[in-house]
Amino acid sequence: MADDIIQDAPRTIVVIGGGQAAGWIVKTLRKEGFDGRLVMIADEIHLPYERPPLSKAVLSGDADIDTVRLVNTDDFAALKVEAWQPDCATSIDRAARIVHTASGREVRYDRLVIATGGAARRLPESLVRTAHVTYLRTLDDAVTLGSRLRQSQRVLVIGGGWIGLEVAATARKLGVDVTVVEGAPRLCGRSVPQGVSDFLLELHRSNGVDIRLNAALLSIDDRDEGVRATFADGSTLDADFAVAGIGLTPHTSLAEYAGLEVNDGIVVDEFGATSDPYVFACGDVANHPNAWLKRRVRLESWANAQNQAIATAKALMGVRAPYAEIPWFWSDQYDVNLQILGDIPAGVEPAVRGDLQARRATLFFLDDGMIRGVIAINSPRDLKLARKWMGQGRAVDVATLVDAGKALA
Ligand code: NAP
Repeated sequence: MADDIIQDAPRTIVVIGGGQAAGWIVKTLRKEGFDGRLVMIADEIHLPYERPPLSKAVLSGDADIDTVRLVNTDDFAALKVEAWQPDCATSIDRAARIVHTASGREVRYDRLVIATGGAARRLPESLVRTAHVTYLRTLDDAVTLGSRLRQSQRVLVIGGGWIGLEVAATARKLGVDVTVVEGAPRLCGRSVPQGVSDFLLELHRSNGVDIRLNAALLSIDDRDEGVRATFADGSTLDADFAVAGIGLTPHTSLAEYAGLEVNDGIVVDEFGATSDPYVFACGDVANHPNAWLKRRVRLESWANAQNQAIATAKALMGVRAPYAEIPWFWSDQYDVNLQILGDIPAGVEPAVRGDLQARRATLFFLDDGMIRGVIAINSPRDLKLARKWMGQGRAVDVATLVDAGKALA
């Protein structure tokens, strides 16, 4: 990326964004001894918080801002961050190194970090003819959606990805009838192989969720007190309201207008540096070269938001430890904890330990005797061991892996 590493110590660092990645940037900068001016510009009123509980404990009413905060308010105050909230960065003047905001403020930076994340992808406007379609991305979205769910009898979930399935599981816990409609022929088709999609399908159906695959949504309209969805095959579905989880659109426009390189996210190197040596990016919005996957990737996960931000903050302080984590992701649905680690190549048959039907299994994706990726279903210990071996580059014995009678360790 930026070939020149700027040597002068920064006095003012500006962070655009107020999510988990931004939170880890400011935390790590102070931990690494940065004692200059730190400005964080964020459009939400809340201090940085973690998103995993939003589709679970926040929806069910068991968690709120105090439980999901990344840093408690006293510790955040101790970081001495000028939090410009709610405000929104509207442009970056890279020549003058100034960020302008919607409220009319401006700040000159020595280094800038863009950690703007993304927004829930919206259904096409032409298709939605009701105000009763909601999305889930922010804490406020989750609080509103949770109170609505708790007053509803029937919800329509559009999208059978991670948001859709986690919302469906929480809604079932709350006693709400759920229909999930997925456009593709299987659930979570972008991140798991067919066998795991089938597993998720059975998991949700056995918990009473009506799942419709290959569902081509034509329109969603008001009907009585609720909504009616119409599909290309002529079928219709009624519900009190709908929630759509159909992907994430990264907030890259600020970087694009500033002339930074953007290609499925803001293009950065393994230190978070963009094509401008004074500007860095991390988290959901950044596209980085991933050492494990051996390709560029934009990761939308809790672990990436944290660890890429830490590596970026360290690089800002002159500690150049490349970001080289093995991608890791988890989801909790009903009594199932599902974790995905590393590379899950399409079309590779995994070595299976345990029994998917029994809801406890580990799928190992191997290449030349080495583990490249793992999907662990209620088997976090297997995943932990695999992570260690993957980090060590250790070859494994397939016969032992698949023999659940033999201890892995
Ligand atoms: P997602 O995992 O990409 O899933 C979206 C799903 O909606 C896809 O299966 C997509 O199918 C489908 N879809 C798109 N348009 C549709 C339509 N018009 N009708 C029906 N289905 C449609 O995205 P997400 O669930 O919205 O989640 C957003 C981000 O948050 C993701 O990055 C996700 O990983 C993250 N997240 C993480 C967690 C966790 O860490 N546990 C939990 C929730 C969310 P196609 O792929 O065919 O477009």
